[in-house]
Amino acid sequence: MQNINFFPGGVAVLLFDTSTMFVIETVEVLRELNLYRRIEEVFKNAFNKGELVFQHGEETEYYQENGLEYQFKIINALGSRPINRKNEDKDTNKKLNPFLKNEPDLTVCDSLLGQYKLLLNKFPNCENHFLMVTKEFVKQDTLLSELDLDTVHLILTNLNRESTPFFLFFNSGHDSGYSQIHKHIQFITLPVIGSRVYKPFIDDFVSKYTYNADLDPLTRPDISFHHFVLPIPENVDRVTISQIYIKLMNQLFNFIGSKIQLKNDSLVVNGELNPQISYNFILTSTYMMVIPRSRPNFNECWANSLQFMGLFSGKNLHIKQKILEMGFQNYLSKVGFPNESSIKL
Ligand code: AMP
Repeated sequence: MQNINFFPGGVAVLLFDTSTMFVIETVEVLRELNLYRRIEEVFKNAFNKGELVFQHGEETEYYQENGLEYQFKIINALGSRPINRKNEDKDTNKKLNPFLKNEPDLTVCDSLLGQYKLLLNKFPNCENHFLMVTKEFVKQDTLLSELDLDTVHLILTNLNRESTPFFLFFNSGHDSGYSQIHKHIQFITLPVIGSRVYKPFIDDFVSKYTYNADLDPLTRPDISFHHFVLPIPENVDRVTISQIYIKLMNQLFNFIGSKIQLKNDSLVVNGELNPQISYNFILTSTYMMVIPRSRPNFNECWANSLQFMGLFSGKNLHIKQKILEMGFQNYLSKVGFPNESSIKL
């Protein structure tokens, strides 16, 4: 079934045909194959067949606010994204859950390490926007496992050998801004502006630090929303990446516990994320960041992880106008929590 050819000692060449199954059985294959090429080809094919709700060249503008840069993109497809946040009833969930359906033209990988699938986002923010979803239904409101983290990190490392940098994000908890309850982690590229790659405002701050086991989570003081971030060491192993996540999550838990009265004094309740906790999670090649969330939207404008990377979008000009009127940092402090270590902007 596997449709990958390897040149001896070289990079994998994909000879794919979207009508056949694409399976990645081992970590070694995941490390070696040219995943970026596979994604590009599946994306082009799906777009040409009209399977994606996507337009090339949608209106994108960049703004500077107090020395920080933001993107605002109008994405018509945001108006048609389906929402399935509630249906835990097995049959209803099966019917409404887009990630349990078999859509061959959107499928980048039918089976990854026996546990996951890689699917194109049908309503992408940009080209090659894709998701890693669990093969079987797992709730979005569960912690990332060591296998989840190791697998997404392997994917990221693979992709960033070949292309414009990708990063990944995960929205978890009732107020995190997600639209689907089936566990999914999203991969997206940083925008390219002319000849440079857009740099999220946290990058330069984190790059001054080197990870060691005693390093406490960091917070950049001059941005408005609370967040916890740690650098990722080069060639990080799966145990360390899990430890970094746990460190950030413990800090997140203590922070939220200091802001609201928690009914349960633990991060996980009955195997799921404590229902009073919501956060956005971002992993790049060089750092991991979590952002506590206080609400999913403010003044009609919804946020997930992307806005905290400075990447704003809206389905129309009305939303853009609202964000511009509120101010980017002001808005982020409302959907997150105000940064207590914040110096005056
Ligand atoms: P979130 O809103 O963070 O829960 O992300 C869920 C993502 O799933 C959204 O970005 C949607 O565009 C995407 N999505 C919805 N339906 C489908 C589908 N049938 N196939 C692939 N992606 C989808």
